[in-house]
Amino acid sequence: MTQITHFINGTLSSASARSAQVYNPALGKAVAEVSLASVAEVEAAIAHAQAAFPAWSAMSPLNRSRILFKFKMLLDERIDDLARAITIEHGKVFEDAKGEIIRGIEVVEFACGIPQMLKGEITEQVGTGVDAWSLSQSLGVVAGITPFNFPAMVPMWMWPVAIACGNTFILKPSEKNPTASMMIGEWLKECGLPDGVFNVVNGDKEAVDVLLTHKDIQAVSFVGSTPIAEYIYSTASNHGKRVQALGGAKNHMVVMPDADISAAVNALTGAAFGSAGERCMAISVAVAVGDIADELVAKLKEKAENLKIGNGENLGLDMGPLISKEHHAKVKGYIDAGVKEGATLVVDGRELSVTGCENGYFLGGTLFDHVTTDMTIYTDEIFGPVLCVVRVDDYAAAAKMINDHEYGNGTSIFTRSGAAARKFSHDIQVGMVGINVPIPVPMAFHSFGGWKRSLFGANHMHGPEGVRFYTKRKAVTARWPEGDIGGAEFVMPTMK
Ligand code: NAD
Repeated sequence: MTQITHFINGTLSSASARSAQVYNPALGKAVAEVSLASVAEVEAAIAHAQAAFPAWSAMSPLNRSRILFKFKMLLDERIDDLARAITIEHGKVFEDAKGEIIRGIEVVEFACGIPQMLKGEITEQVGTGVDAWSLSQSLGVVAGITPFNFPAMVPMWMWPVAIACGNTFILKPSEKNPTASMMIGEWLKECGLPDGVFNVVNGDKEAVDVLLTHKDIQAVSFVGSTPIAEYIYSTASNHGKRVQALGGAKNHMVVMPDADISAAVNALTGAAFGSAGERCMAISVAVAVGDIADELVAKLKEKAENLKIGNGENLGLDMGPLISKEHHAKVKGYIDAGVKEGATLVVDGRELSVTGCENGYFLGGTLFDHVTTDMTIYTDEIFGPVLCVVRVDDYAAAAKMINDHEYGNGTSIFTRSGAAARKFSHDIQVGMVGINVPIPVPMAFHSFGGWKRSLFGANHMHGPEGVRFYTKRKAVTARWPEGDIGGAEFVMPTMK
């Protein structure tokens, strides 16, 4: 079986004492064994990243960005290889895996413009003969801890910006699909990235805890589930680090009575069932306002019943399997609970079997109607291909429901009314808002992040917020006097 170890200081390390199996979820079969780093192995990675920091941070931003340019070109050429590796370990369909890589490449493209982003501010003559300026400097060694559902894109929300800003980086990807990160490490080296600037340690809580507490880690970026995000935020902040920890989601799409219904149905179908619902920006609740509900549910039923589901390595499919046997059982358990709690099961995905993939972790698209806000299928993040329709009388009830939910990652509204759309984007207590678009994932030069229990910390990811997160500001005040500047001043200095 393939052995996946760690990528530290530009080399593949030997296997760790502990390991876990990596599965192909379409086949339900182990395909690789991944090392789980010990405390000493993570400490060694941090020491290498720390040693690489002085030279890397001293390199001009332009020369750092030139390495990223090369990497972008290489990624364009090798996108299919990376996408295939993602499909095998994650299960998402090949075209969708390419889509996530392209969204990641956009962050590399943004980071290529880092010389422009790192320009400081200067004020000449803040006092007579005195100038002042503010500049941004790198932090040191920073760490990223990432989830299984976007093995390339989510790490690329972090490391391109972090290293472009002059930091060195330690990535701890999900142990469920580590290959993409390892490929990226080797490709960065091929593009001339100095050893120790980008490192991958594979592992579990043991490895993560070192990154959260080690004195030489300056900042921690995390994306994953809310309970772990909360743990990461509190532990790393208690150890004096800056932290951005993005958590789970329950994204609602409001369908107003005046919406273009076929556009809304297509949007809902792709956003609910794409990647088997394992996206933090998946839409899992459709809020049907007024008399649109019956037609909406009938059209969604037809779509959910006709999804093309199979091994994502085959082209032209809509969705693949769930990530693991355990997660499959969990999502199935939610469907059972929804039935018990009294929701109407319109399309039941529980009995799906895929020919040739009988051991795979497949569930069909599932649609519930008449869901109410006290049901677990409404309150909890299911992270599977389960769409809940909640019926409400008016816009105010829809907005209140979204604002009352504990998560606030993404949301959208489908309407032909500019006034309703404007009110929604202003009122709604959610970090990312779509108007007649299904998944409002911001472009790389804007920033990505939710509100409420979908994000702990002050900064969103990538874009200008990413640059702020990965740099610290310094304010310099300077005078070059000619001749005598007088004696000691004992009152608070003020500028004259
Ligand atoms: P997860 O929280 O189980 O794991 C995320 C990372 O944390 C992994 O690297 C894992 O190894 C590590 N980890 C797990 N348990 C840990 C522990 N006890 N201590 C320390 N580290 C631990 O998440 P997942 O199942 O890999 O990913 C799915 C979740 O990620 C969903 O909740 C989804 O909404 C969320 N997500 C959120 C966003 C966002 O932008 N808000 C984006 C993608 C995914």
